[in-house]
Amino acid sequence: MANHPKKPNVNLNLNVRGLPQSATLAINELSNQLKQEGRKVYKLGLGQSPFPVPESVVDELKVNARQKDYLPVKGLMRLRKAVADYHCRVNGTCHSPEDVLIGPGSKELMFLLQYVYYGDLLIPTPSWVSYAPQAQMIGRQVRWLKTRAENNWILTAEELEARCINDPAKPRILIINYPSNPTGLTYTPGELKELAHVSKKYQVILLSDEIYGELHHKGKHVSIARYYPEGTIISGGLSKWCGAGGWRLGTFTFPASMRWLLDSMAVMASETFTSTSAPIQYAAVRAFSGGHDIEKYLWRCRWILSKLAEVISNKLIAAGISVQFPQGAFYLFPDFSPLREKLVEKGVTGSQSLSRVLLEETGVAILPGEVFGRPPEELTARIAYVDFDGVRAHSAAENLNSQGEIDENFIYNYCGNTIEAIDRICEWVSN
Ligand code: GLU
Repeated sequence: MANHPKKPNVNLNLNVRGLPQSATLAINELSNQLKQEGRKVYKLGLGQSPFPVPESVVDELKVNARQKDYLPVKGLMRLRKAVADYHCRVNGTCHSPEDVLIGPGSKELMFLLQYVYYGDLLIPTPSWVSYAPQAQMIGRQVRWLKTRAENNWILTAEELEARCINDPAKPRILIINYPSNPTGLTYTPGELKELAHVSKKYQVILLSDEIYGELHHKGKHVSIARYYPEGTIISGGLSKWCGAGGWRLGTFTFPASMRWLLDSMAVMASETFTSTSAPIQYAAVRAFSGGHDIEKYLWRCRWILSKLAEVISNKLIAAGISVQFPQGAFYLFPDFSPLREKLVEKGVTGSQSLSRVLLEETGVAILPGEVFGRPPEELTARIAYVDFDGVRAHSAAENLNSQGEIDENFIYNYCGNTIEAIDRICEWVSN
């Protein structure tokens, strides 16, 4: 018999001891398991694009299936150039291919950044589930910055300044993510300018997570790198706008003055993942090069997401749940507090029990606000409105005219499962 240590847990690094699996992936696995057991489950937990990868990008992957060599650690030069050109074209920020680092998902690059850069991590609450655990694993201090629902959950320049003013020289990384996971909301150019101003004043390194930038519902995403180019790293990838989460390709684009940081991350990359999958990198060149077909593809994704968001937000509001209309991505961040009294009768006392009881009683899987850094007793949650057949919906959207006018039943016909899930939530809270 193998000689296993009796208490394997005690040998775990203290920074990872007791950490659970990431909430987004855990809810997906639980939902799949319940489905396999024969339960009807509405999967509004994991934030995965429902849409297919654009045809031209899939074709490029097929053509490159035989690419088998290790690629350079920092990424395929053609891809680094395509990403630099993309930012120039889309964001109006100029970068050279040497400013770009390619990785197996932006999540991994975020981990490497936190590992190599010594400094506190500043994140607004709510924020995506993995920023804080990554900092904890590495042993960095996490400082949560307050936001308010009335203010669209955005981080204000005043709040950032209040955090920096007492110890102005401290090294810090601030992560802002917009359109936001988990709220679906974003910043105005004026708000970004103010944040850029304070970041510059205190020399905060800004990690601008723009993975949902192309899914701004009106196609009007603006990068903060425009206002603070020398201090901003832009994080992006194929996972969301290109529907290719499972392909695992992320990009970091640095200001030239931060080459030292990029180089250190590349050293770490060389000792850990080596380089990103070769066929995926070749296919990604096609994705970042853009063109008419990619524009058309994005236009349809945005149209479907924005219409669906409108329908379901209205339903939630009518049921007495408080929520802001999303401006991008595929998330809503409702607050069930107005219905607290009724929910207490169902055994709901905070966001964890809200999600658990909702799943048990209705089959709708969502994520509790607590995993995004909200106080446990608050009745907030994230809804990822992606449980519908995106291939079917996307192809049906081909018949949309340029004004987006079409049979108003489109959303009901093609995104019915998500609407049914929202109806279930609304019925549940009113019973
Ligand atoms: N970003 C997605 C989410 O928040 C899923 C991927 C992940 O968390 O790694 O649901």
